[in-house]
Order: sequence, then structure tokens, then C-alpha cells
Amino acid sequence: MPAPRTTAGGVVVAVDGPSGSGKSSVSRAVAQRLGVAYLDTGATYRAVCWWCLEHDVDLSDRVAVAEAARQLDLELGTDPTKPLVRIEGRVVTDALRESRVSSAVSAVATNLDVRAELRRRQRAVVDLARRDRGVVAEGRDTTTVVVPDADVRVLLVADEDARLRRRARDVHGSDDAAARERTRDEVVRRDRDDATVSEFSVAADGVVTVDSSAMTLEETVQAVLSLVEAAAPHLVPAGEVAEGVAERAARAGAR
Ligand code: C5P
Repeated sequence: MPAPRTTAGGVVVAVDGPSGSGKSSVSRAVAQRLGVAYLDTGATYRAVCWWCLEHDVDLSDRVAVAEAARQLDLELGTDPTKPLVRIEGRVVTDALRESRVSSAVSAVATNLDVRAELRRRQRAVVDLARRDRGVVAEGRDTTTVVVPDADVRVLLVADEDARLRRRARDVHGSDDAAARERTRDEVVRRDRDDATVSEFSVAADGVVTVDSSAMTLEETVQAVLSLVEAAAPHLVPAGEVAEGVAERAARAGAR
């Protein structure tokens, strides 16, 4: 269990990066180790997309989709062990991960009025968590737009093959060539579309790049924790960062 905090105000960690870079798994694990909240900003875009698909709203109708975003009755759970998402009281966490949502969500995310509304909702979650122990917020524009003032900002990257393999294992349970090919649209095409509205392949000033291509999940979690420890040593519970991790992380890819 994390040690009790001794100072006021929570830590804010922002993690962005492309599809399959490991943002979600790493962010959830880091939040859990720190005993802080977890914010999945991607879930807000998926939620608007899911609602529009359910109600036959044409995703190219920018005004209608923006209005749906503003009216959406959305509850975002922030428990990193079980981040439940509810729409109109119904748990939709798994439905939001379905391929029909993944392949359509960029149309929602490139709508600038939707982005403004969801950014407002995301910041409200961060502000609340900041007054408590803090939060790990993940998603494509978190280090640059949602919480550019975060205590720790990380751009998590991995080469395309590693990202395709990870996503294929998540979605299809295998990373053989056929599964990787089936995943390509969701990883490569989606990132290309998303890149038209947010920059998540080059680190902004003050953002640390962690390249997880050759790292295990635990190594990547340790690399991020070591950055939190450097920025706010009192926030990392004793024993969570193994000795020598900062040095190994720097050699493996933090830059
Ligand atoms: O991270 P995840 O795959 O759940 O994100 C789903 C989609 O939401 C992304 O493909 C992108 O279109 C959008 N998104 C975004 N900005 C964020 C997080 C997600 O545009 N901060």
C-alpha cells in the first residue's frame, strides 16, 4: 500500500503517445503504485462515438456530434484497477473497446467542438484529483493540451512492429502475421487521422520520451515511476522504484 502523503496537493502525471505504445497499461499500473486516480481521456472520445453509433447520428454531421458531446450523460471511473465508464447509468467499458468504435472514433476526435467539450470534462476530473492524491492522465494530447502544467509529462513511444504486436494480442489474442494485418487499420490509419488534430509523435518542450519498444511492461512502469520520483520524491512510496532503474531507463530509452 502506498505510504500516506505528507504534503498538500496531488501529483499530476500526463502520458501521451501513439496507439499500442502501452499508454493505458503503463498509466494504470503507475496510478495504482502511486495510489492516485487514473484518467483515460480516450474513453471520452470513444463514449461520444459509441453514443452516436447507438443513436444513428451521422459522424460527419459536426454540429450534431458536438451537441451529443455536450449533452452526454457520462460518468468516468478513475479507479486504476477498474476504470468503469457509464453512459446514462449503463456500464459501457467493454463496448467502448469494440472495433466498430475504434475504427470510427477518429471522426469524432477530429471534431474541434467535441475536443473543446471533452477537454473541459477531462480537466474537471484532473482538477478534482489534484486536490486529493493526484492522477495519471493518459491520451494523445494530455502532455500538450489537457494538462501542459503536469508535474511529470511523458511521451511513450514504441516502434510500429511492437505497437502492432501489442494491439493484435489485446484485440485478437495473437500477434501472428494475420492478426497484425487485421490490426493495422486500428493502429496506423487511426494514428494518421488523429495526427491531424494532435501531435503525439514528437515530444514537446519539457516532455520526456520513453521508448518502450524493447522494454517489458514492468520496465516501462519503473521508468515512469523513476521520473515521478525525480520530480516529486515524497510522492513515490518507498520500495516502488527498484535501485538503478533511472539509469537503466535512461539507457533503454528515456530521453
Ligand atoms: O487511447 P484510445 O485508443 O482509447 O483513444 C481513442 C481515440 O480517441 C483516439 O484514436 C483518438 O482519436 C482520440 N483521442 C484523442 N485525444 C486524446 C485521447 C484520445 O483525440 N487525448
